[in-house]
Formats: sequence, C-alpha cells, structure tokens
Amino acid sequence: MTTSPREKNAPRDIDAPAIIAAKPDVTKANSKKVFIKTYGCQMNVYDSERMADVLAPIGYAPTDAPDHADLVILNTCHIREKAAEKVYSELGRIRKYKETNKPDMKVAVAGCVAQAEGAEIMSRAPVVDMVLGPQTYHKLPEMIAKVHRGTGQVLETEFDTLEKFDELPELRQPKGFSSFLTIQEGCDKFCTFCVVPYTRGAEVSRSVAHVVAEARQLAAHGVREITLIGQNVNAYNGIGEDGKEWTLGQLIRHVALIGGIDRIRFTTSHPRDMDDDLIETLGNEPKLMPYLHLPIQAGSNKVLHAMNRGHTYAEYKELIAKIRAARPDIALSGDFIVGFPGETETDFQQTMKCVEEIGYGSSFSFKYSVRPGTPGAGLPRQVPEDEKQDRLVRLQALLYQQQQDFNKSLIGRTLSVLVEGVGRKDDQLFGRSPYLQGTHFDGPKDLVGQIVDVKITDAGRNSLVGELAT
Ligand code: SAM
Ligand code: SF4
Repeated sequence: MTTSPREKNAPRDIDAPAIIAAKPDVTKANSKKVFIKTYGCQMNVYDSERMADVLAPIGYAPTDAPDHADLVILNTCHIREKAAEKVYSELGRIRKYKETNKPDMKVAVAGCVAQAEGAEIMSRAPVVDMVLGPQTYHKLPEMIAKVHRGTGQVLETEFDTLEKFDELPELRQPKGFSSFLTIQEGCDKFCTFCVVPYTRGAEVSRSVAHVVAEARQLAAHGVREITLIGQNVNAYNGIGEDGKEWTLGQLIRHVALIGGIDRIRFTTSHPRDMDDDLIETLGNEPKLMPYLHLPIQAGSNKVLHAMNRGHTYAEYKELIAKIRAARPDIALSGDFIVGFPGETETDFQQTMKCVEEIGYGSSFSFKYSVRPGTPGAGLPRQVPEDEKQDRLVRLQALLYQQQQDFNKSLIGRTLSVLVEGVGRKDDQLFGRSPYLQGTHFDGPKDLVGQIVDVKITDAGRNSLVGELAT
C-alpha cells in the first residue's frame, strides 16, 4: 500500500499558506457573462483562466453557455492548419447567432492565431471586435472599454511577456484541486516545422518569487497539484532569491516546500534542456510525479536534423536510460510527427523502432502540417497526404497498444489518486493517478479534494478503474 505524498512530506513546508477563509464571491456581483473557448495546449488553458481573472473585477462572470454571453473569447491554437481553421468555422457560427439573437454580443480572438494573423482575422471575420495576442491579456479591460466607446475593432499583438505577468491580477480563482502555473513562455529552438517561436516569441522565464507567490495563492485556494508549464519548461532560468538564475530542478525543489502542494508536474520538456540536476530532482523529490513528457518527434537522425531538433536518436535513448536509472517507476510520454518533408519509409521505420525500444505510457502523434512562414513549408519532397495518413495509422496502432499494455500492467497495484470530482454514477469518484490516467472508483463525496489510495482492478486504453484501498 502506498502512502500519500501529503503524509510523506508533511513536515517540509516552508511556511503554511495564508488561509483564505472564504473565496471572494466576485460572480454574484457580476452582471455580465463571458464565455471563453480554449483550443490547443495547456498554456492556453492557463491563459484562459487568467483572462477570466482579469475580467472578474470589471463585472464579467464566466459561463459555460455561449448563447447568453455578453462577451465570447476564442483562445486559439495555430500549431496545425486544422486547429487554425476551426476558429474560422466557429466565428461563422457566432456571426449567425449574434445577428439573429444577440446583436450587442462582443467577440474577441485571442491566442496564437490572433498573434499570427492579426488584422487579417478582422477582414476575414468582421464579427470580431478584438484581436489579442498571448502577451496582451492584461489589456483586455482597456480593449473592451474601447470597443464599447465605439472606436471600432481593436488589435493588440505586442510581445512583452513579463509585462503581462506583472500586470495580471494577483488573485487567482482556480477551478478544482489541480492547476497549471506558467513559469516560462516562448521558444528559441526554431524547429523547422513549428510556429511557436513566431507566435509566442523568445524564451522568457518568470522569477522564482513570482512563481512561488502564485503557487502559494493556489495552495491557499485548496489546490494540491501544480503543473509547471512552459513551451520549453526545462529551459527555465528565472531569477532566484539569491539574484542568480535558477534551473527548473531548483525551482521544483523550492515549490515542493510550499504547504498544501502535494504533487508537482512539469511540461513540456525538450530533450536538449534535460540537465543532470533535473534528472536528480526527478529521482529525489517525492512530490514530483513519476511521469515525463519528453517529445522526440521522429526516430531518424536525418529527419531529426532536418527538423533542427539538435540531438540524435542515440542521444535521446541515452538520456532516457539516465532518467530511468534515476526514477525507475517513471512513465514516459512523447510527441511524434509523421510525414515531415523528405521522410521516407525507411526513416519512418526508425520512428517505429524508437517507439518499440523506448516504450511510451502515453503519447500524442500528428501528421506533419505545413505552417506558412516556417522553414519546413519551403522544403522539397513534401510527403503526400495518403502516405502521412498511412504512417500515422501504423504508428498510432503501436503507441495505443503500448498505452493499453502500460495501463493493464497497473492492475493489482495501489496508486495514490487525487480525487478531482464525482463521476457519472452515484457514489462514483473521479481522480488522477500519478501517471495522469483518469481513475474511476466508488467512494463518498467528501473525499473530493483528497489524495487517496486506490487499488486498480481494471484498465482501458484511456482510464483506470479501481476500489478504495483499505
Ligand atoms: N516544445 C515542445 C517540444 O519541443 O517538444 C513541443 C511544443 S508544440 C506546441 C506541441 C507539439 O505539436 C510538438 O511536439 C509537435 O509534435 C506538434 N507540432 C508542432 N508543429 C507541428 C506541425 N507543423 N505539424 C504537426 N505537428 C506539429
Ligand atoms: Fe516548437 Fe520546437 Fe520550440 Fe517545441 S522546441 S515549441 S516544437 S520550436
């Protein structure tokens, strides 16, 4: 039977979080409603929450029903063509709804499509009142005021990441017991397939003091699990309390001292930034969950080089061996792209070999999507769509089998589960295992928010089933 991290780590708190007796009920006083639809990555999930925080003091309460919203925000993703196109279809639906039912509804496009396409969005979709890039969310109230003054459409796509963090309200209203916390934004790696360096700008890290203050706030609101996020989270180099740059490992060990925070995760990591200190922290810090998302994208050295990933397959394999030596129970997750320009069947077979040799507990896999403005878009020998599709099907068959096998291997084990809420059936609870699988089991509602031991009795590809361990 396992012990929950809270019990194991109880005496290690640097200071108890400020107890917030009752959450200020900003929603009651609010008369307007905002509907925020989030596309894409965890950074966007975090940003959407922060936009809600910015809007609360000026009278907007979040709603899950777009129909009655006074303000609709689409927080968009530009990573693949499909993701970007979805936004325009959604804007078409919003336009029709607004024209017939709610002419005074205001519409904003935020996120990476906003950053990449800017004013183009307004000419393609005149229903849009505001376009705001990921670094300008703190300016939302000012932008809304301008729109209401009738100044026409408003565009903000500046790039000052740290200004955004300085200006966002300190008070966060986290939902639930697990929360994202952005510690780093942007990317200097320039993989030849990727738009992120253009939409999110250069790598910037928040200071340790800022991160710790936000983590304490979250703990004070009952959050027990924090996922530190960044486009390249392990490139973190924020200024620490000693005035020097801190590594991600140092930051994690510090956040682990905060009372109330029992579980820590971090994502997404780049193999090139996986330093020894972080690997040691993975081995030694009990609050750090045994799960690592470490994308390789492709197994062929030729393709890795063309992608500008900056490492070979052998180097990645060596790194994984080191990580597994430090933390033998770790589950790995990865991202894969098939059909990068010039990828042959032989190259693709190297990706299959990589998956077989490394073994992944979960994964994300995509067909290469041409992104205008990136070096990959101009490369010769683009792979035909049907070949990409065929490779994706074969790769996913292998990855999904590994995921299923990993989940089945947990049957009979007792895992600590953070209970996030109630399930669909009476007395059913839902939570997350250390390996991030959704886990269902029966138990009383008052366990919501607790970390409990659950004996796993069944497993599917995407989730686990268990019973409370006695
Ligand atoms: N920084 C992380 C890294 O280097 O591994 C990844 C962040 S990126 C936002 C998330 C994933 O989207 C990438 O790992 C990649 O697999 C996928 N991706 C990015 N650009 C893509 C493209 N043009 N086509 C298909 N997938 C893409
Ligand atoms: Fe994109 Fe590469 Fe940067 Fe990841 S490391 S965000 S894939 S450019």
